[in-house]
Amino acid sequence: MIERLAIIGVGLIGGSLARALRAANAVGEVVGCGRSLDNLEKAHELGVIDRFTHDPGEAVAGADMIFLAVPLGAMRTVMAAIRQRLDTAAVITDGGSVKGSVVADALAVFGAMPPRLVPGHPIAGTECSGVEASFAELYAQRRVILTPLPETDPDALNRVTRMWETCGAEVTTMAVAHHDEVLAATSHLPHMLAFSLVDALAQMRENDEIFRYAAGGFRDFTRIASSDPVMWRDICIANREALSAMLARFGVEMTGLAESIRRGDGVHLLEIFERAKSARDRYVDSAP
Ligand code: NAP
Repeated sequence: MIERLAIIGVGLIGGSLARALRAANAVGEVVGCGRSLDNLEKAHELGVIDRFTHDPGEAVAGADMIFLAVPLGAMRTVMAAIRQRLDTAAVITDGGSVKGSVVADALAVFGAMPPRLVPGHPIAGTECSGVEASFAELYAQRRVILTPLPETDPDALNRVTRMWETCGAEVTTMAVAHHDEVLAATSHLPHMLAFSLVDALAQMRENDEIFRYAAGGFRDFTRIASSDPVMWRDICIANREALSAMLARFGVEMTGLAESIRRGDGVHLLEIFERAKSARDRYVDSAP
């Protein structure tokens, strides 16, 4: 299906795409690109990529599919580096967690949205980074959201859709701003809660003791605070409007909850916990 795939950023997301397409026998050659030699050599050793380069322009030359899987803060530099080297028929897509910033980067670099660039976001991941964390099944039965624009070429959209379906994913489309609002609520806000909870506890004087007695609930809730700090700094900055609105709204909820606890308002507390439990139970029952 894909003759030459160029992966810019061979980490968890880029490496897993290459592995999944290889497992499905759906790709010819895979060219990897990144900064550190170590990660690229490891990717080659693991058979995730066939060859590598540090130069994004060289990586995309002759590629019919290009996947940008670098942190959001590096997208614009990478786009500028590949701009002059793209084949006219090449399809470009990305895995960035925020779509408004990727579209803004493309407009800044290309002057207009390239019809064969299809912004995308796999709703799959772990708290681990780098090619060694990647695995072929990451996208199986997971959602991938594509955010095409009016100028997006239907053939490019179709090729990217088929690529993700080949990895076992279910593809849906969404408007760019809507994607960023939904993800601010479902992914970015929970990460902020986990990071800030762990940081607040870590700064308390008795933190050794607090962590020593932390049990399973703490571990479950804070797993995502082990995610890559650079990636999350970039996500916050790229989605700052939607995320700060969501944090402000959540702040109001927390203040209300604290007030109910202070007043000992068991009726209100029970109301909140019952509503939350039934919403989560429904979500868990319907999740793939
Ligand atoms: P990752 O495992 O850290 O991989 C990112 C890769 O990009 C690294 O191998 C890194 O290698 C390379 N890189 C970083 N800066 C670069 C640059 N300037 N030029 C070229 N390569 C560069 O991160 P990831 O989890 O795969 O995330 C990649 C993208 O997917 C991000 O945009 C993120 O928002 C998105 N995403 C992540 C998840 C998740 O759960 N992790 C889920 C969905 C989407 P070097 O450091 O060696 O250059």
